[in-house]
Amino acid sequence: MNVLVINCGSSSLKFQFIETEDQRVLVRGLCERIGIDGSAFEYKKETGDKKASKIEMKDHNDAVAVVLSMLTDKEDGVIDDLAKIDAVGHRVVHGGEKFKEAVLINDEVIKEIEEVSDLAPLHNPAALLGIRACMDQMGNIPQVGVFDTAFHQTMEPESYLYAIPYDYYEKYKIRRYGFHGTSHEYVANRAAQILGKDISTLKIIVCHIGNGASMSAVKYGKCIDTSMGFTPLAGLVMGTRSGDIDPAIITYLMKKENMTADEVVSMLNKQSGVLGLSGVSSDYRDVIDAEKNGDQKAKKAMDVFILRIVKYIGAYMAELDGVDAVAFTAGAGENSVSIRERIGEKLGFLGVTLDKEKNKAARGVEGFIGGDDDKVKLMVIPTNEEYAIAEQTVSLLKR
Ligand code: AMP
Repeated sequence: MNVLVINCGSSSLKFQFIETEDQRVLVRGLCERIGIDGSAFEYKKETGDKKASKIEMKDHNDAVAVVLSMLTDKEDGVIDDLAKIDAVGHRVVHGGEKFKEAVLINDEVIKEIEEVSDLAPLHNPAALLGIRACMDQMGNIPQVGVFDTAFHQTMEPESYLYAIPYDYYEKYKIRRYGFHGTSHEYVANRAAQILGKDISTLKIIVCHIGNGASMSAVKYGKCIDTSMGFTPLAGLVMGTRSGDIDPAIITYLMKKENMTADEVVSMLNKQSGVLGLSGVSSDYRDVIDAEKNGDQKAKKAMDVFILRIVKYIGAYMAELDGVDAVAFTAGAGENSVSIRERIGEKLGFLGVTLDKEKNKAARGVEGFIGGDDDKVKLMVIPTNEEYAIAEQTVSLLKR
């Protein structure tokens, strides 16, 4: 099937047009600066042909029109008719407690996504703009919503409840939701395929380590815990996000620095993590380079970053009551030989021995990076969220 995967931000729209049987990305592209002066459109086809142009796009409706006309363009397009698009898969960040899996979008679903928009005020409204624009311009072509939170909805209350008055859970739905779910699910399933085992027999820890980073404990195919929380600020140390901190730091800083609550939370989201600790960069590569040049703050930043991951691996191993595989994915998880090596060195308690040569070879490609005889398998599995969205879209429509 041909699935158009759409991922909208407040002023951007990323897309991939995927032929799912052969996992071919026929074309991928990006609309930027939507509604802002100087909006631009670029795409790259499977053939390698690419184009970038300035096109005025005053809203997401215009952006969808630009994408659809490119797809069906006589010279540059990849299909001759919109009817060749079997479905559209929309990435939606927050599904609240309502959406536990992908869903066919109708007016009722739109209302429900609106209702949980409070929980992702930057992201869900943008997704809705894309959804509405596609519904308006694509007739009866099915539109499917795929939620970042859905995979984590299998967590039990003991994992998702915060120990604050229960009223706040009932009144405001304050709880752990978890994010990057599409990636965690894809990587866990892929790990099972590579291991040649049924996922319903496996305990897997997925480490999604990108600029945003999160981990999940997946038991027999279901997520039982994950490191991000009510928002994507919790858990691991990230490029610019603090991850877990003592919440009392917030009011302490408000008083000491005369900051508002919003200013502190913005600092925790945008100026913390390895950037905040090192003062160098949010990009782990830059921080590692600085560390190599003797920068002590950079070293401390990376040490804190690594230790947090190791702590979560230990915690999840306990929660899972054992583990069969630990899989690394996303920007740093897929590509950083040194980050994986530093984590691997601290996993003696798992009985794993990181194989330095295999680790070097698995740069951006699937592979095992532990010893052949290790009981717990260390793996690298590049994530593919767009393909996972297309796959979920197809499997919903085939039901
Ligand atoms: P993502 O958010 O998954 O796109 O990951 C992007 C991040 O991955 C970048 O900000 C980098 O910090 C990190 N990254 C990518 N490649 C490497 C690498 N070879 N070594 C360390 N970090 C990397």
